[in-house]
Order: sequence, then structure tokens, then C-alpha cells
Amino acid sequence: MQTPEKTIPAAPEYESGAAYIDGAFMPVIQAAIPVLHGGYRRSDVTYDVVGVWDGNFFRLDDHIARFRASIRALHMEPAESDAEIIEILHRLVALAGLRSAYVSMECLRGAPKPGLPRHPANCRSYLSCHAIPWQSVATHEMFERGMHLMISSVLRIPPESFDPTVKNFHWGDLTRSMFEAKAAGADYSVLLDSDGNITEGPGFNVFCIRDSVVVCPARGALKGITQKSVLELCDELGLKSEVRDITAEEFRNADEIFTCTTAGGVMPASRIDGRRLNNDRPGPISTRLKDLFWSKRTEGWHASPVRYELAAKVASCP
Ligand code: PLP
Repeated sequence: MQTPEKTIPAAPEYESGAAYIDGAFMPVIQAAIPVLHGGYRRSDVTYDVVGVWDGNFFRLDDHIARFRASIRALHMEPAESDAEIIEILHRLVALAGLRSAYVSMECLRGAPKPGLPRHPANCRSYLSCHAIPWQSVATHEMFERGMHLMISSVLRIPPESFDPTVKNFHWGDLTRSMFEAKAAGADYSVLLDSDGNITEGPGFNVFCIRDSVVVCPARGALKGITQKSVLELCDELGLKSEVRDITAEEFRNADEIFTCTTAGGVMPASRIDGRRLNNDRPGPISTRLKDLFWSKRTEGWHASPVRYELAAKVASCP
């Protein structure tokens, strides 16, 4: 899969990407968060990432709805409405002149107002967004040979401690598991919950397939927009799908496994804990889902065309 070429000319300072922080647009290399803000000191931030492929946002409204739900869950109140956030994201992609982009929206807590107790309720929250060239969780090699996964000994942070459906930067468990996977020679980890059920991996949801039934975890993970898309594709292909608990043993013994995320789409696996699946290659159903995902994207499935004309509006701002 070739990343579409960048065809829109951008001002040189925006070539590596564009950012918006709390009312101001800037080149992404100038975007910075104050060290005293809770968004940095406490990971007191929620975010969402939407993809742009070949000049189109994918499921932008779904990403905005999830982002707003996360903002509310964390008792944050940024100044911008949903419509304003959408316009900011369009402008960022336009400013950077990107046909394919990784577009992040974040809502962070600031510092407590002077004289008030250090309670998060005493901090204002604000938006930080950026658009940078498209990036994928899986490398070209991983797409070709299939991802090598391992079930980590590190447990996912329990939902009772932090709700995983609120997209967050509490990546201590995921990061630790990635080092464990690297030491074991795997590309990526998949984490269990405290009941021994599969949750998700660092930046992706997971599916397994047994006897042509496509299954993903019911809980303990982000409700991925790509996961939702895959479930729709299963319906379209007449494949039975189930959303339920998956034990480590069931996952390890699956016929096929794949991961999915905005930054990569459907990413088939070929190894789990050293066991080779499908002769060490991406499986046939996973590959069908991957191919259909991208062919539908190319045909404009859930697409909103980027409003490139908005770049001029920002460029003329003082
Ligand atoms: N799970 C985690 C922990 C993630 O960080 C992500 C995406 O970044 C996903 C799942 C996949 O979600 P989506 O398909 O909405 O990108």
C-alpha cells in the first residue's frame, strides 16, 4: 500500500506539520506544552487521532464524538465547539499540505489558577491539535510478513482504575510491554486483564478468527473506530463476528489474528508467542478484511474531503 503523494504546496515552515494550541496556529516544530501543566505533569489529557488518506478524513464525526465523550468524562471544558474543532483539523491538514496525514486532537488540563488549591477542578483545559505526515504502527515489512505478536506478562491498567474507552496517555503498561516484546523478538505486545482475557496492544485493537468467526474483546480496551469499521466489513462480507471475552489460550490457538488502528488500518499477524499462523504469513480472512478496508477507503467510504482552501485563511492571520 503506497502512501498517496503530497500534492498541495505548503509554506516551508509547515512542511513537517502544523499545530494549533489554545487559539494559535503554528508549525508543528514550534508546538510545546508548558512543563507546569497537568497535561504534562499528570498525563491529565485525553486525545483522539483521525486519519486522512488521499485527501479525505475517515469517520471524522465518529472521532469527534469519541473525543467529546472523553473530554466530558475527564471534566474538561475546552473553549472550542465540535464544529470549531472540525474546522481547526481541516485547516491543519491544509496548512501542512498533506494528502495523507496523522491528525491528533488533544485536550489538556493546564496549571491551577494562582492562589487556588492544587485540584484539577481549578485548572482550565485547552486544546492542542496537530497534523503530521501519515504514519503507521506497522512497518512495510510487518505488512508483508505479518506482525509478530506476544502476549505480555504486563497486565493492562484495570478499567476500574482508568476507563480505557477514554483515549489516554497512561502508557506505562503498554510501554513496559513493548520492551518485553522487543526482548522476546516480537514486534508488538498484546495485554491481558486481571481475569486473563485479551484487551488490546500499544496503539491498536485486536481480533482473532476461529472457524471463520471473527472475534474481538468486549471490554478492557478502547472502542476503536477501526474496530467498528472491521465489524461493519464482516457484515458486508457475510462473516460472523462476535464481541466477547477472549482468553489467552483461545487467542494463542486462533486460526488467524489481526490488529487494527487508525494509524495502519487492518494489520494481519503471522506469529503469536512464537507460534506460526498460516505458514508464517498473513491469514486469508484478515487479508480480505484489510484489502476491503482500503478499497472502500479509496472509494470514499465514511470520507470527508479536506477543505484545502482553509489554508489561505490561516496563512493570512497575524
Ligand atoms: N487501542 C489503543 C490503546 C489505541 O491507542 C488505539 C489507537 O490509537 C486503538 C486501540 C485503536 O483505535 P482506533 O481504531 O480508533 O484508532
